Amino acid sequence: MTIAATTEYEGLAHAAAGGVAELRSMNAEHIVVVGAGQAGCGIATELRKLRFGGRITLIGDETHMPYQRPPLSKAYLAGELPEERLSLVSGQRLREAGIDFRGGVRASGIDRRNRTLQLEDGSSIAYDRMAIATGGRNRALPWPEARADNVFSLRTIDDVRRMRDYWSAGKRLVVIGGGFIGLEVAATAVRAGLQVTVLEAQDRLLSRVTIPAVSDFFEKLHGAAGVTLRKNVQVVGLEGMPQVSAVVLADGTRLAADLVLVGIGLLPNTALAEVAGLEVRDGIVVDECARSSDPRIVAAGDCANHPSVWTGTRLRLESVQNAADQARTAAATLCGAATKPYRALPWFWSDQYDVKLQIAGISAPHDHLVLRGDPAFGAFTVFYFLAGRMIAADSLNRPQDHLFARRAIGGGLRVDPGRIADEAIPLSELSR
Ligand code: FAD
Repeated sequence: MTIAATTEYEGLAHAAAGGVAELRSMNAEHIVVVGAGQAGCGIATELRKLRFGGRITLIGDETHMPYQRPPLSKAYLAGELPEERLSLVSGQRLREAGIDFRGGVRASGIDRRNRTLQLEDGSSIAYDRMAIATGGRNRALPWPEARADNVFSLRTIDDVRRMRDYWSAGKRLVVIGGGFIGLEVAATAVRAGLQVTVLEAQDRLLSRVTIPAVSDFFEKLHGAAGVTLRKNVQVVGLEGMPQVSAVVLADGTRLAADLVLVGIGLLPNTALAEVAGLEVRDGIVVDECARSSDPRIVAAGDCANHPSVWTGTRLRLESVQNAADQARTAAATLCGAATKPYRALPWFWSDQYDVKLQIAGISAPHDHLVLRGDPAFGAFTVFYFLAGRMIAADSLNRPQDHLFARRAIGGGLRVDPGRIADEAIPLSELSR
């Protein structure tokens, strides 16, 4: 990553005609970015890459330097990745880029009329333009016992640090929710010798994001590793305080637990935007250029709801790809550079044991499926088609298929569904 603070705009090859003048006029402006995660950090650093020369302040309520979250449920939780390797950008690079990072302070209000951001420490900051990249928070269970010392959700470094006190071989971990985070934690835990039970309310794992064949693959994978999976179960309570000792199911079963992980989804952090009167509907409503209903304010990442060219609907995505790519669009919009609407193809990955699932595109709705490879050998791809066009692919340990799908879908290439199942035909011969 190259970050350069500069006040020189002349001769910038990438700036559109007219964009240079606008950039120059913005030199005196102050852009405040709220939320110092993947998207917020991306916006602040991208602004410098686009040669924005005004002030940038990056506000984050966590006390850590900006960091990446995916390893929290994988290598970092397993103790295989040191904390410094989570870093998105160092303090020194932020300083060199002239980005004023203020961590450990929460933004509490926006006065749009006077263009000031209020902070919880009682201070306020004047802004000319603002980015909201406040991410989301984990959905919580409604009972008081959900706040017990040994009940966790996983979003931050501090969550992992707290969980480590309970993390040792032989401990009984009950995971509530068979989604990506629950399953990644289950895989990490069982490899560390914990006794793991996963509870899933639906009749299969990952039911919102993939087809039954892929769910089935993951069920077998976890089963073979020693995870106990219980599907079609409703958790109706937790027992014990200040330490939970059991998870109670609707049929009266009490599952003994030394620690509980709740992985039941995410709620976007939109309170700031709502109180400020911005339009909010499952996330802060933004246009293709990441603009909110206030043209001076953009939003990006898990907290933003954008129009998708891939589905023709509005989407709120929770992925690194979305946060990083939308941040680039948001930064360009903020500083008036030649804005490219946000049209990146969504993609996502999950690591469980030695299996890498990579998802390209949005698979629903689809009308035809093609399988390439063999689930029995642990490496296959499900290609999704709609009206003859490839729209998505779920690849398991098939990185070449994933890259092919991203190229084909993103580039609008026609792929013959009749030929793709035939492994004798190389990928390079499948699109035209
Ligand atoms: P965040 O990274 O959540 O950053 C938002 C920041 O804003 C947070 O630090 C928050 O505390 C702060 N904030 C909120 N409100 C305020 C306020 N009022 N004032 C100041 N600061 C505030 N994605 C993948 O693609 N692949 C994966 O394998 C994967 N694994 C994941 C594993 C885990 C355990 C988690 C939690 C997420 C994972 N993700 C994965 C999702 C990915 O990390 C997120 O989509 C991405 O971090 C979103 O970035 P963001 O900047 O929108 O939000």
